[in-house]
Amino acid sequence: MRLKLFRAESGTTTVWSWDEMNYDVLLKIMKRVPLGDRLCVACLVSKTWLSAVLDSMSPPGVINLKRLDCPKFQQMNNRYLVFLKRRLDTMPVDSCSAFYHGETFLQEYKYRYIAKRTPSMQKLIIPRAVRTNYTFILPAMKYWKKLKKVQFPSILIAQFRRNFTEVETLRLFGAVDDDIATIIRDRCPQLKRLRLDYCALSINALSTILDGHKDLELLDTRHSFRVPDCRILFSDRVSLCLEWNEEEIRCKAAGVKVHLKCARDRCRKCAPRKCNLPLRSCFPDLKPFKSDYRARL
Ligand SMILES: [Zn+2]
Repeated sequence: MRLKLFRAESGTTTVWSWDEMNYDVLLKIMKRVPLGDRLCVACLVSKTWLSAVLDSMSPPGVINLKRLDCPKFQQMNNRYLVFLKRRLDTMPVDSCSAFYHGETFLQEYKYRYIAKRTPSMQKLIIPRAVRTNYTFILPAMKYWKKLKKVQFPSILIAQFRRNFTEVETLRLFGAVDDDIATIIRDRCPQLKRLRLDYCALSINALSTILDGHKDLELLDTRHSFRVPDCRILFSDRVSLCLEWNEEEIRCKAAGVKVHLKCARDRCRKCAPRKCNLPLRSCFPDLKPFKSDYRARL
């Protein structure tokens, strides 16, 4: 397929290949093409057009699986994944640096496939909507050892304790027990920003973390709460939320530049807790799982 360009001033006609079109212009055009036509027609023109189709759906270097959550998109999910695979097969292995997961799960071997081709991954964002579900990402984690910005279920820290030596920004959800706190203290030397909002913390967790990170740029402990044993997070037993060791934390966090915290008992979101089940307290704002939540592509 050729593109004919007529120059009025000279009266000449130049014939170009579509692949010679300026890529930025092509990308702008592609974003105006209906999604179905992008995935069913435009991507078949050439490798350049396929790249433009995928770049039009997420920025270059980003794998954005949140796209798969869109109801309009669901009939084309598998097609999108086929093209994503083709692209991973043809691009250099260090081309992708960010991975956004959504609420739609892939089969586990597909995560491994993606991770083997993206060993330079720096940013991993898993939404709170997956709650404490973490097994789906296990096949990928062993390949990602250069992560700098991470958001995911806290248990992954314990599962891959050697993977976070370069992490600068860390946001966890779920429970942070003594073991996880020790790993954050000892194995995350580059840590600058730590978010533990809505987390269930063991009695000593925050104190342990601050022993190794006294000068964080940001510490977020809003709406977090203490429990005597993080394992009861997964039981139906009513938990006792312990008082905070405010004075100890205040001293240890004295060098933290920004410490975001709520008013605890006077916070509308914390007290009185609407539900005494500790796991529910970790994810109070989330809607029930979507009916197709566990569907795997
Ligand atoms: Zn609060």
